[in-house]
Amino acid sequence: MTTTTDEIQACLCGSGLAYPDCCGLYHSGKRLPDTAEALMRSRFTAYARRDAAYLLASWNAGKRPASLDFSEETALWHSLQIINCKKGGVTNSKGIVEFKAFYNQDGIEYFMHEISRFVKTGQRWFYLDGVIKAAGKTEAGSNTDGNALCTHGGCKKFKSV
Ligand SMILES: [Zn+2]
Repeated sequence: MTTTTDEIQACLCGSGLAYPDCCGLYHSGKRLPDTAEALMRSRFTAYARRDAAYLLASWNAGKRPASLDFSEETALWHSLQIINCKKGGVTNSKGIVEFKAFYNQDGIEYFMHEISRFVKTGQRWFYLDGVIKAAGKTEAGSNTDGNALCTHGGCKKFKSV
């Protein structure tokens, strides 16, 4: 078993779990997300990791783009805040997840506030589409409430046993 720095890092989705015990399970195909929120979180971390294959595979077939090109992408996605979920549970076949995703580009902090729709086909959740409510620079000193925010500092020490 390898123990690279990357692998023991706290998952960027902010769950507080280490990446291999969180979204890493979905990215590697070991497990399927059983809720819309879990899929949303894993897609966020897939964006952060430039995992185009996972993003395309978890996208509704009728909505997904032919390809994703990250070669020009410079945004560093670093934290996620789940604001609200409607349905999207294990017994549902549709779900809506409202979230804010935060990234740094050229040293400036930005956010994107989106409401995403998810559908379950068979036993598997897929991203359908989303509406961006707001996006822009994160205001200096703005106080995100810390819910689900688990970024650079303290949590890197976290390691599940
Ligand atoms: Zn995660």
